[in-house]
Amino acid sequence: MELESIRLRGFRNYAELDAAFVPGVNLVLGDNAQGKTNLLEAVTYLSTGKAFRTRKEQELIQFGADFADLEADVLAKNREKTLRAVLFTGRKPRQLFLNGVKQKNFTTMEGELTTVLFCPEDLLILKSGAEKRRRLLDNALCQLRPGYSRALQEYQRLLDHKSRILKDWRDRPSYLDALPGFNLRMAQFGAALIAYRANYLQKLARLTAQYHREFSGDRERLALTYRTVSTVLDPLAARAEIERQILDHQESHLRAEIESGQCLTGPHRDDFEVVCNDLPLKSFGSQGQVRTAAISLKLAEREIFRDDTGEMPVLLLDDVLSELDEGRQDFLLNQLRAGQVFITCCEDRKFTKLGAVLHIAGGALRPE
Ligand code: ATP
Ligand code: MG
Repeated sequence: MELESIRLRGFRNYAELDAAFVPGVNLVLGDNAQGKTNLLEAVTYLSTGKAFRTRKEQELIQFGADFADLEADVLAKNREKTLRAVLFTGRKPRQLFLNGVKQKNFTTMEGELTTVLFCPEDLLILKSGAEKRRRLLDNALCQLRPGYSRALQEYQRLLDHKSRILKDWRDRPSYLDALPGFNLRMAQFGAALIAYRANYLQKLARLTAQYHREFSGDRERLALTYRTVSTVLDPLAARAEIERQILDHQESHLRAEIESGQCLTGPHRDDFEVVCNDLPLKSFGSQGQVRTAAISLKLAEREIFRDDTGEMPVLLLDDVLSELDEGRQDFLLNQLRAGQVFITCCEDRKFTKLGAVLHIAGGALRPE
């Protein structure tokens, strides 16, 4: 997968940008607040249909402009494609184009440009609550496995229903009659989610640990462990077995659920634990260790995507070199030999040999 070029009009601080990229490392250099992250944001927008820094799309349009126009040429499996998105101020909905043909929504553009992004906020994946880690699994599996995406949607729908039953049964006791039916279906779909997650995590854990060990010069051991419903003894077991064990858990928690009015059992509470040299990373990891683990996680994700789709996703690394000691910087830079990479950093002579250099200043490319 290769991003050949991008054209931006009225996007963030770019009034007008026409940039071409190389297949290997593209080093995006510039002082603070010049537009380095904005450029990566434009790339991920065309990749995922979402802005990673904001939920308000309007913020992407340059102050004072009426619209933002983003267009990229992508080369994948020897075919060139053009992706384009136009965003408008006010209520007018965005317009999406694939090879010049207008698309109804982003689903038909999904997978045309696959990217793996690492940004400083990703450090929170390992530091904060379970939700961010579940989202990491969900994001990857939804892209890789359509069956997972369907199961997740259905499970979520059932969970919403069951939560309402548990909240409102005191006013309407007859609601409780529907509970066994919901529990059964949630056990079925829940077992599917657990099976997918366990398989994915098995690969992710192996690769992440491998990257982290090399990254730290063999000084650190990282282990990822899947945490799901406590009665599920082996999440890699047959689905029927998992389903039965979820039902056991539901049964033993039925009373507590009814009394508390909350849904206490099921894979919507899943998590994975990260341990570095036998200590939980969340509480004991140093900044550098957390950063190393988070980057290892992303490199592992890239590898799984490549194995699965046959195409190396474009790697986007925002501000990744800061806070890494020299050994770790060298390791990371060595990992960048395969596939296309965009890496932002503040002006630094040291890195300019890595690949093509794009100097960004005030939302424009600065000539050499
Ligand atoms: P750093 O090194 O500090 O991370 P950066 O080069 O990554 O800096 P960006 O986040 O890409 O910086 O750009 C930030 C600049 O873009 C800010 O100065 C901000 O005011 C400007 N900006 C953000 N949104 C818009 C917008 N809609 N219109 C115009 N300018 C914007
Ligand atoms: Mg930035």
